[in-house]
Amino acid sequence: MYCNFCGKVIQDDALVCAYCGRRVGIPVAKRRLVRPREGRKMAGVCLGFAEYLDLDVTLVRVLWLVAAFMTGIGFIAYPVAWIVMPEEPLALPAVASQTVPQH
Ligand SMILES: [Zn+2]
Repeated sequence: MYCNFCGKVIQDDALVCAYCGRRVGIPVAKRRLVRPREGRKMAGVCLGFAEYLDLDVTLVRVLWLVAAFMTGIGFIAYPVAWIVMPEEPLALPAVASQTVPQH
């Protein structure tokens, strides 16, 4: 591929241009298997998997339920995933908690 800034040929998977040092690639958001706090039905396990695998959450839930009733794996896997998967970290505004001391 070509650098958008200096136009030189750079390697296809480069994130930073080797010639001008500018960021060229869009960094792929690092996916983590977490249980999202928003939009969850139960523990957010299916939603977490859906976001991680880039699938529709309904599809994941259906597949999970099918697997649960067909094989029983889902009944075991859900609580296991619930325990193992970390909860999505709270997005707290860092500034709001800090009060400026007044004198
Ligand atoms: Zn460049």
